[in-house]
Amino acid sequence: MEYADPTGARLSRPRRFGWILLGVWTLVVAASLIWNLAQQRRETLDLAYTTAITLYEKDLLYRRWAAGHSGVYVPVTAATPPSPYLSHLPERDLQTPSSRRLTLINPAYMTRQVYELAQESGQPQGHLHSLKPLRPGNVPDHWETAALKAFEQGQPEARGIEKLDGKEVFRLMRPFITEKSCLGCHAGQGYRVGEIRGGISLTVPMASLRQAQDSMMVALVGGHGLLWLLGVLGIVVAVRNLEKAHLQIITLVNTDSLTHLANRRFFIDFLEKAMAFAKRHGQALSVIMADLDHFKAINDTYGHQAGDQVLAAFAQVMQASIRQEDLAARFGGEEFIVMLPGTTLEDATILAERLRESLENLTFPPMETRVTASFGIAQYQPDDTFETLVKRADEGLYAAKAAGRNRVMTG
Ligand code: GH3
Ligand code: MG
Ligand code: MG
Repeated sequence: MEYADPTGARLSRPRRFGWILLGVWTLVVAASLIWNLAQQRRETLDLAYTTAITLYEKDLLYRRWAAGHSGVYVPVTAATPPSPYLSHLPERDLQTPSSRRLTLINPAYMTRQVYELAQESGQPQGHLHSLKPLRPGNVPDHWETAALKAFEQGQPEARGIEKLDGKEVFRLMRPFITEKSCLGCHAGQGYRVGEIRGGISLTVPMASLRQAQDSMMVALVGGHGLLWLLGVLGIVVAVRNLEKAHLQIITLVNTDSLTHLANRRFFIDFLEKAMAFAKRHGQALSVIMADLDHFKAINDTYGHQAGDQVLAAFAQVMQASIRQEDLAARFGGEEFIVMLPGTTLEDATILAERLRESLENLTFPPMETRVTASFGIAQYQPDDTFETLVKRADEGLYAAKAAGRNRVMTG
């Protein structure tokens, strides 16, 4: 038999625990997701930076190679005309013995052409800039000007995410230190070797990196969602089991194992609550106390086990006769008590009489003697305590015993 927990906390404890667990789990998963998403964004930027640095190093290497040869000669074409910025060099243009025209390409010219090729194919691009450019195309843009100024203040590098022509790009810029080979063209501007006179900026398109980042983020959100759901399922299953176990424990603690009725402790708690309710609402409340007659003799004649059967049978009779809101309990050895909310002494007497008759009519073969019980009844009075109410019912019971047993009397 199941009883509500008199403390009113029958199911709420495991549930409350479940809600707290769910909250903590949600926080943990959310924190992990936020951290992982931020990490993913950082990694995307790191990747863009690494790409830019790699390109920068490679560009520098090629520039050095070209500078090491004091420039290289290439055939003159429409795309590669002789550079007007090198016109002061007497050997800018050469002619091969077979009359092919060659023109000198210095590192700046070479780099520009390579960067233009990159631009055409949508690859990461570089750019060479000077605060005092010889070529108007080398004028730094707003971001680059700020970076160049920062380099002059000693900052070793500038990087950032920008929008260029509506597209997101990663920009990296490092100072370009004037080398000896630069002076060939820039000496007239007062450049000195070792001075920062410009910078190389690299632009890495973010579209493909962001695409990779987005699919990683979708995977992260999906994975975390799944993990969260699994956790929630686990919590729900655990809380359900906990609830069941909790209910079993409470039932066990409150129930008498032989008769499966409520035990004395539970009955007292419950009756006190019912008394408070009856007082507040001005309702009637009655109790019936029952004690089996000459039960010792039954035990002595037919054995303790037969006595147990009688106790269980009487409990069943009581349980079957009372209403849902009533509560029957085993109060002591062969003593029972029933609480009847909303019931007057008169109605309680009728029920007790019915119980008495039912027991009297029960047979317990091979027992020949009939089992009877005596009943004492009392109705709750507003100034009653638990003790005074039970005492009055007990007095009724005592009177019934004294009057010859197998009868119902009021206290
Ligand atoms: P009375 O009519 O005055 O109530 O007489 P009685 O013999 O019923 O009363 P008494 O108090 O002398 O004896 C009660 C007996 O109930 C004694 C005890 O062995 C028996 N009893 C108590 N609990 C159990 C139980 O769980 N199982 C069985 N079989 N007997 C029990
Ligand atoms: Mg007895
Ligand atoms: Mg007794």
